[in-house]
Amino acid sequence: MKRALILGITGQDGAYLAQLFLSKGYKVFGTFRRASTPNFWRLMALGLEDKIELISVDLTDMSSMISALEIAQPNEVYNMAASSYVADSFECPLANLDVTGMAVARLLEAIRIVNKDIKFYQSSSSEMYGNHCDPQLGAHYEKSRMEPISPYGVAKLAAHHLVNIYRQTGMYCVSGILFNHESPLRGLDFVTRKITNTVAKIKLGLCKDLILGNISVRRDWGYAPEYMEAVWLMMQQDQPDDYAIGTGVSHTVEEFAYGTGCIADVKFDIKQNPMLYRPLDIKFLECWTGPTKEKLNWSTKTRFGQLVEIMVKADIQRWTDWQDGKTFPWDAPLYPNEAKVLRR
Ligand code: NAP
Repeated sequence: MKRALILGITGQDGAYLAQLFLSKGYKVFGTFRRASTPNFWRLMALGLEDKIELISVDLTDMSSMISALEIAQPNEVYNMAASSYVADSFECPLANLDVTGMAVARLLEAIRIVNKDIKFYQSSSSEMYGNHCDPQLGAHYEKSRMEPISPYGVAKLAAHHLVNIYRQTGMYCVSGILFNHESPLRGLDFVTRKITNTVAKIKLGLCKDLILGNISVRRDWGYAPEYMEAVWLMMQQDQPDDYAIGTGVSHTVEEFAYGTGCIADVKFDIKQNPMLYRPLDIKFLECWTGPTKEKLNWSTKTRFGQLVEIMVKADIQRWTDWQDGKTFPWDAPLYPNEAKVLRR
């Protein structure tokens, strides 16, 4: 039986990856960060909490990584942990560089010390490209120039280069450059989920306005569970490599918002708040999917409209269930503004 260790199993990708590995017969270990109140709602929503082994690891602490490797004795390690909210990286750049970038050096060293035959996957990000886009290609792939414009992007790029260096020393290290991927398990701070959650509340008469920052930026949005299949495939190849994963189609935030309204059958105006703008923002991100399709024989199946539908229907269902007095694992009660609505 193969053994996988997932760092950041409490996050969106970590939870879906755990679900996928259990379906493939893996023994699954996952790391969580010890907090005064732990964050297991995604694992509970997927019904996984009793099927995995949890180990406490902090990304700032290499000895906790070494212990986790010794306990789990994994064949494969997947690093899905990071401080993943780009806007926050402008507010806490040093913490972000440490948790998102330096932590990968700690992890790679921990693997080299414990057992350098362990395969390693790093979650790289399309945020590494910044605003550079090859004008002839009009999209990005694994060999495109990278000029990040956020502390998060810089941290991810440092980690991406580290993975490449350790790969050259003979370790099996893979980097998946994932474009934005979403799902009902996406955190509420992220714009797609903020939209679907707010539109669900508007539909049920629980709020009136959708307030957003910059709605003109274009992103290539895919469906997270599907992307985890690609992540697993990357780690099954004979040779480690870099892969860009996206849909090949981009949309603006405004299109996402009005698409959500259409599916939910709700009319609203978007209010823009300049306070929600990032200091610097990437205008356009779109994946050139050709090389990865060829290398992995994988491509995305869920289209943009289907993704929006899955997300908004899930949020409408949650708020309806809550109105009906049902209890279930979700994140809204953890947010002060949502909790205010819940208390009404
Ligand atoms: P997520 O939902 O924010 O999950 C991040 C995970 O990292 C959580 O389990 C979180 O733990 C953990 N973490 C954060 N700081 C930590 C610390 N100091 N010590 C230990 N654990 C810590 O992110 P995601 O959407 O699943 O993304 C997974 C990975 O892919 C991340 O590296 C992200 O940067 C990258 N990525 C995501 C996207 C996307 O569109 N989703 C695109 C490209 C790359 P808590 O639960 O305790 O917070």
